[in-house]
Amino acid sequence: MDGDTEATTTVCSKDLSADVVIVGGGAAGLATAIFCARLDASRSILILDGASKLGAKILVSGGGRCNVTNKKVTREDFWGGNPNVIRRTLSALSAQETVEFFGSIGVELREEGEIGKLFPVSNKAQTVLDALLAEANRLNIRISCNQRVTNVSCDATGFLIEASDRSYRTKQLVLATGGQSLPKTGSDGFGYELARKLGHTLIARTPALDPLKLDGDFHSQLSGISHRASISVARPGEKSVTATGELLWTHFGISGPVALDISRHWHRANIEGIQPKVSVSLLPDLDMSQLESWLLDFGTNNPKAQIVTALCRLLPNRVAQLVLKVLGVDATMQMSQLAKAIRRKVIAALLEWPIEVTDGRGYTFAEATAGGVSLAELNPGTLESRKCPSLYLVGEILDVDGRLGGFNFQWAWSSAWIAGTAIARKKHAV
Ligand SMILES: Cc1cc2nc3c(=O)[nH]c(=O)nc-3n(C[C@H](O)[C@H](O)[C@H](O)COP(=O)(O)OP(=O)(O)OC[C@H]3O[C@@H](n4cnc5c(N)ncnc54)[C@H](O)[C@@H]3O)c2cc1C
Repeated sequence: MDGDTEATTTVCSKDLSADVVIVGGGAAGLATAIFCARLDASRSILILDGASKLGAKILVSGGGRCNVTNKKVTREDFWGGNPNVIRRTLSALSAQETVEFFGSIGVELREEGEIGKLFPVSNKAQTVLDALLAEANRLNIRISCNQRVTNVSCDATGFLIEASDRSYRTKQLVLATGGQSLPKTGSDGFGYELARKLGHTLIARTPALDPLKLDGDFHSQLSGISHRASISVARPGEKSVTATGELLWTHFGISGPVALDISRHWHRANIEGIQPKVSVSLLPDLDMSQLESWLLDFGTNNPKAQIVTALCRLLPNRVAQLVLKVLGVDATMQMSQLAKAIRRKVIAALLEWPIEVTDGRGYTFAEATAGGVSLAELNPGTLESRKCPSLYLVGEILDVDGRLGGFNFQWAWSSAWIAGTAIARKKHAV
C-alpha cells in the first residue's frame, strides 16, 4: 500500500499512471470508478483525493445516516443547468436502479418520512461508505489519499495531473471534486478552477440548502420552535417560488427543511443584485377563505374564547402570541368581538408574514452548492467535455443542485453512471 494512502484495503501501487484517473473520491467519484470497472475490468482506475480519508461528506450526510436517494426522483426536484440534460441523466440511473445497485453491494435501503427519503436500514452512513469502498476494492480500483490535485494540463499524450507531492498521467480524466459546502471535508471549490483551466465556463456559485439569517428579532424570540410552513421568494415582476415543509426558528433566523430548500432562490437573486420579497405562510395548508371560514366557525362555536386560543389551535403557542403582539392585536380579545378588519389583518399576516433575509450562513453550514460547471459544455449522453476530449465531470461540481431529500446524492449516482459506463464503453486509448 502506498505510504500516503488512506488505510482502506484497496490496493495502491507505486504506478503513477492509470487508464482512468478520477480526481475526488466522494460519492460521485467512487460510483464512477465502480460503474466503469464493473463494465470493463481491464481498465486501470486510480482515484486521487486530497483528504486523508475518503467519504467525509457521506459520513456527515443525513445527520450521520446518509439519505442515499428518494423513492420518487424527478427533474422538478433539481435546479440549475439545462432541464433536458438533468432529466436524461436522472433517467440513466433511476432511483429504483440506485436502490438495486446499493442492494448489490449489501446496503438495503428503507423509506422514512412522508417525502420518500431512503436511508440504509442500518441507519448508519458508515454502512454506505464501507460498502462503496469494499466494492471499489473488489474491483481493484486504486485509491490514493492525501493527494490534493493542484494542477491539470492536457496535451496530445493525455493529461498530466499534479498532486500534493507527485504527478500522474492518464488518458481519461474525471473531475469529481464536489462543490464547496462544508469545505473542511476537502470539497473546497478548488475543483472548479481545475475545470476552468481545462476550458470550462463556470456558472456563478452560491450556497444552497443554507440556513438563512433574518433582520429584526421576531425569529430570535421563537428560537427552537418548529412547525410546518411555506416560504415564498418573489423577484420583482416574476412568479414567486415556494417551498413547503418544516420551519425551524433560530437565534440567527430560520433553518429546517423549508428554509434550506428555499435558500438557493434567495442566494441566486442576491448575486444578481436583486432583493427579492420573502414571506412565510405560517399555515401553509389553508388558503385565505379556508382560514376565514375556520375562524368564523370557531368564533360561532366559542364566542367567549380569546383570539389567542383560536390561533393556538393552529400554531405553536409562542408563535400565535408573538404574531398578535407584533400586529398590535389584543390576545385576550374574545372571538365575538373580533371585527372583520382585524380578522382580515390577522389572516393576511398568518398567510403572508414578511421576513427580511440579510444573508445565508454560507458554505460552512450549507449542504450544497448551486452553480458550477455549465452542462451546456458537456455531451449529455456521456458527460464528456466538449471543451476537452476525454475529460468527464460528475457530481456536485456541475451546475445542478437538488432539494433536500436524497436528491443531491441521486445526482451524484446518476451522473457517475453516465460517465462511468461511457468511459468503459470507449475504446481503450493507446
Ligand atoms: C452536512 C451535509 C449533509 C448532507 N446530507 C445529504 C443527504 O443526506 N442526502 C443527499 O442527497 N445529499 C446530502 N448532502 C449533499 C451531498 O453530500 C453532496 O451533494 C455529495 O456528497 C456530492 O458528491 P460529490 O462526489 O460530487 O462531491 P463530494 O462528496 O464533495 O466529494 C468530492 C471529493 O473530492 C475531493 N477533492 C476536492 N478537491 C480536490 C482536489 N483539488 N484534489 C483532490 N481531491 C479533491 C474531496 O476531498 C472529496 O472527497 C449533504 C451535504 C452536507 C454538507
